[in-house]
Amino acid sequence: MNATIPLPMAESDRAGRDRLELLTTLINGPSFDPLFCRDVIRIPSDHPVYPWQCVVADCERSRWATGDLCAIHRAQWNKAKAAGTRRAAFVRSALPLTRTVSLEPIICRICVHRPAFNRQLALCHRHRNRWRAHVRTHGTKTGFERWLKTQTPYPTYGECRTGACLELATSPLGLCVLHEDRYGDVGKPGGATLPRGWFGSYEYHDKPVPVRYDDESAFRRWCAAQVPVMRIGDLNLRGLRPLLRAEIRWGLHAHVQGEQRQAWELPWLQPCWNSATTDVLSRCSTSTLPAARKTTSDG
Ligand SMILES: [Zn+2]
Ligand SMILES: [Zn+2]
Ligand SMILES: [Zn+2]
Repeated sequence: MNATIPLPMAESDRAGRDRLELLTTLINGPSFDPLFCRDVIRIPSDHPVYPWQCVVADCERSRWATGDLCAIHRAQWNKAKAAGTRRAAFVRSALPLTRTVSLEPIICRICVHRPAFNRQLALCHRHRNRWRAHVRTHGTKTGFERWLKTQTPYPTYGECRTGACLELATSPLGLCVLHEDRYGDVGKPGGATLPRGWFGSYEYHDKPVPVRYDDESAFRRWCAAQVPVMRIGDLNLRGLRPLLRAEIRWGLHAHVQGEQRQAWELPWLQPCWNSATTDVLSRCSTSTLPAARKTTSDG
């Protein structure tokens, strides 16, 4: 069966309410794939219909755009193809690559609820600075592991304040690293800022850090309109209207059924989710979605 993502109706319409009720019954039924029941759907890398890992054996990188190879192997394949190499031979002989992006968020190994600023050491900004100060004063003779035992966790900044984001906030402003960057890039709507020298004046003395706003409502509106940070292999349905969420769940489930199923690679599905979060998909027809590709694509 080929799944379609139909034009969603508003839950406030009678037809929309009826459809939501019907879909909810189907989704709660015994034959519905439990993989699609969660708000954050974690797709296995080798899923037969929603694959996201490069097809070169043992390559840990995710597929690129609409192909079944990662970006590096795609570039290598383009050259090999031009030189007359057969596709199967290339996939067999290409050297696998290690992952450059973690599937899970890296958190401070001491605080646990603060994101890691230094990913290699897995330390938040504050603990990274403490480790550097320790090395400056004592060198590395005491060892990282022994130093870790002398450290205590700091309070969390909470989850990112943007609607559907699952990341931890990186500062008292309440935004994750990516959303804090985006907020700065768009000129800080609502003017949310932290006091100058907030760390030395507040956090260092265990005082709560005040957030100042020009217009807090504008800041909250900006937060609510943001798409979540997408992690490889995840489809994040948080923040979507119940009917749209149910439509997507059912569409994903239905597309897996039957013998004529085609692969939908996650790298092109995920932007659809982002569009849905900003309420664009809810006004689009299926014609805006890219054509499905066959599982046996030659990339
Ligand atoms: Zn690859
Ligand atoms: Zn920490
Ligand atoms: Zn975020």
